Amino acid sequence: MNNCVILANEAITSQDEAHLEAVMNAAIDIESYYNKLISIKGFLGQFQVKVEGDNGVSDLSVVAIRQAHFDIVLDLSHSPSINLEMLPPGYFYVGQDPALLADALEQIPDLVGEFDKPRYVKVNHDICAHNKHGLNGCNRCLNFCPADAISSVAQKIEIDPYLCHGAGSCSNACPTGALSYDLPSPKSLHSYLEKLVSRYRLQAQTAPVVLFHDNEAGAQFITDELSGDVLPIAMEEITVASIDHWMTTLAYGAREILILNTDLTAPTLTQMLNGELALANRILDEM
Ligand code: SF4
Repeated sequence: MNNCVILANEAITSQDEAHLEAVMNAAIDIESYYNKLISIKGFLGQFQVKVEGDNGVSDLSVVAIRQAHFDIVLDLSHSPSINLEMLPPGYFYVGQDPALLADALEQIPDLVGEFDKPRYVKVNHDICAHNKHGLNGCNRCLNFCPADAISSVAQKIEIDPYLCHGAGSCSNACPTGALSYDLPSPKSLHSYLEKLVSRYRLQAQTAPVVLFHDNEAGAQFITDELSGDVLPIAMEEITVASIDHWMTTLAYGAREILILNTDLTAPTLTQMLNGELALANRILDEM
């Protein structure tokens, strides 16, 4: 790591010293500052760190490296400086955990160069019910984003593609269809599910179980030990597929839908899933 700036904003313990030694061994140029941290905002390549000094609040990156931003933040604090269920890319919270620190120090050198950031969600302001004629209305997408990627700017819903993790909770929560998921679009996911289930039924002469999982923590549970009639489907997050996908997959001929929730699933997403699962099961019971 080049140009490493250390901000000490709380008392340093003996555990911190071991951590700091590991960081210093990995860095080339190091400068240290002792200031009160006001806030950290941004994402990979664009982090603004505000600190309080003798002359008031300033941007640490301007003072320390004469740049408008830092590229990466490695947070060793006792509690995270960014309090979000889904953290922005480029922000590593390791706290007091040596294994997390070793993992972060291994990943950070690879975060150099240019990266493609997919734009998962788009918004159609014409049919959004957030604010019409000066009257406040719907806020559902704002309440269900675990990454704080959605905001209301001049009474319009805006999505920050750099913070968006593609969880899809906003498009599931949107009552008007103003927010739509693009990777994949709902239509192409429906079409894929139909082909998958109908081809399996044709060849195996039996109905499959469809298992939705995310492509990181959940993917680790997808092994050869999975029963042959279980069809796993990897998604950016398990909330990308929602109640309409589950119900239509059953209608296409699947015999059961499973959703793999792990300890790493954001609580807001789990809460949303539980609500949709209760509704889906109730509909199926009544049918
Ligand atoms: S949930 Fe949909 S309708 Fe409601 S504010 Fe968000 S985009 Fe607009």
